[in-house]
Amino acid sequence: MSNGGLELHPGLAERLAGVQSRIADAARAADRDASSITTIVVTKFQPATLVAELSSLGVTDVGENRHQEAMAKADELAGLALNWHFVGQLQSKKAKQVRTYARVIHSIDRPALLSALASTDGELDCFLQVNLTDNPERGGVAPAELPALVEQTLSTAGLRLLGLMAVAPLDVEPRRAFARVRELSESIRGIAPQATALSMGMSQDFAAALAEGATHLRIGTAITGNRPLPG
Ligand SMILES: *Cc1c(COP(=O)(O)O)cnc(C)c1O
Repeated sequence: MSNGGLELHPGLAERLAGVQSRIADAARAADRDASSITTIVVTKFQPATLVAELSSLGVTDVGENRHQEAMAKADELAGLALNWHFVGQLQSKKAKQVRTYARVIHSIDRPALLSALASTDGELDCFLQVNLTDNPERGGVAPAELPALVEQTLSTAGLRLLGLMAVAPLDVEPRRAFARVRELSESIRGIAPQATALSMGMSQDFAAALAEGATHLRIGTAITGNRPLPG
């Protein structure tokens, strides 16, 4: 595969192609149309040069989980055709700034973030993150509080609710966790008929997520290789 000689990150093209073919296989096994699935390459802690190389390989969607780092990379790579997805925990006071570069926010989990993100200046696509653990420290709204947060999202100016996002807990079989997210998604369909998207599935569990209807995969290390230490 040629990418114009830009090859600062050995093996990246091969890993990307390998994951893309595994996604195609998993989609086929789940009787899903691969073209309806968005793969977001999570590039947190990776240098901007790696993101640029991904872009040269045809990647259009990248994900970040820390605001400072995301803003710096989006700024440096502003000339590239990239959609930036914010997937990390977000402080309310940073939320407005995330709107300036992010195309999609996956991690809305409380009313304070909705107020902070409200805007009359265009629509931002978003997911509500659901916490599938009993630990309130983990990001995400508790399932019992989800319907209220959905209603609040729908009445917030400048946000378009795409659906639900979740991370499978370590102690649960991933497919069961993703089935739970699908059921929660079905349970809010009455109040939010358009919110059908499901952001779930990472390097280790994307096939299980596809089997349960994932529309947006968030894949990091399987494509990027190991993450450098945060610095
Ligand atoms: C880091 C991260 C990912 C990607 O994880 P990998 O295991 O590297 O694929 C996906 N989603 C979120 C929210 C993340 O923080």
